[in-house]
Amino acid sequence: MAIKGEGQFGALAMRLAHAGGLTSVARWIGAGQGCLVNFHRVSHAVAWPGLPNREFHIDAAFLGQLLDHVAGSGWDVVTLDDALVRIRSGEGRRFVNFSVDDVYRDTIEVALPVFRSRGVPVTLFVTTGIPDGTVTLWQAGLETMLLDRDRVALADGRDADAGSAEAKRRLCRQLAAAWEDDAPELQYRRFCALNGCDPAALHHRHAASWAMLEAVRDDPCVEIGGHTVSHARLSALPLEDARREIMGCRARLQDRLGCPVRHFAFPYGRRGDCGGREFDLAREAGFATAATTRRGLVGAGDRARLHALPRNTLNGAHRHVSQAEMHLSGLGGLLARAMRAT
Ligand SMILES: [Zn+2]
Repeated sequence: MAIKGEGQFGALAMRLAHAGGLTSVARWIGAGQGCLVNFHRVSHAVAWPGLPNREFHIDAAFLGQLLDHVAGSGWDVVTLDDALVRIRSGEGRRFVNFSVDDVYRDTIEVALPVFRSRGVPVTLFVTTGIPDGTVTLWQAGLETMLLDRDRVALADGRDADAGSAEAKRRLCRQLAAAWEDDAPELQYRRFCALNGCDPAALHHRHAASWAMLEAVRDDPCVEIGGHTVSHARLSALPLEDARREIMGCRARLQDRLGCPVRHFAFPYGRRGDCGGREFDLAREAGFATAATTRRGLVGAGDRARLHALPRNTLNGAHRHVSQAEMHLSGLGGLLARAMRAT
């Protein structure tokens, strides 16, 4: 079959997933023992439609539906420790591991209760600069400022309309794109000053704190993993800096939380963001596994690639279980590989 584009293949895959159900489609593909799934922010369903950067958030009601669907389809939701045992042995039922990257306040306050209420685990990949206050959460801060205002002052002296959800989304997109490649933290601080906002207060509003992490570290539904110190794109760093990002994050988490930290996730995680050097560094730092965001399922073949595991990202565009099934069935990974081959 000629593959003309992701849309065409994706629509077919979704129809297959929808018609056959998760387990049968996975069996039809015949590859992979489990699936790693990650996301970033979670919002309450009622707030999601009005969020200026809603692509970055999944809604908590959808997350609950997805967990129920996975359990109803006979998959086990497991920690990465458990997934590792299954990958090594090749035994056990099909599994899904859910992980949340970065770890904002809403991970603890909104996402975790969804997992807890169903008695299933979630892995939290913590960027230690967030609770340490050394990473500027400029996208979250920008989004909040737009949510809280009907007009905002811009650096060029203009006063921009932010009175509707559409205007907030447009401004969020435009400002983030304009700042992204040119010292976004600095531009964000200027924007805060122009609009009378305190960046420290905004950070507190969005960041998970060490106290929050201490409160959940012994929760049977929580597994703590590492996600660098500063959320750096590791492939862009000199070797020693990349090593410090990976090792420093593990040391800080173990020191501050006193719990084992056996798993790592690469920031961004796509081809070009991490490769052989970074996989070796994660192994050298003592992590048992490291996950990318390259789509696909995990299975016996990954025993030799435990520091380059595929992982599938959910975002705000995922509104229905059938869309998530693309990843869980392995169709998303097949699609990604097919698109690279064409
Ligand atoms: Zn991240």
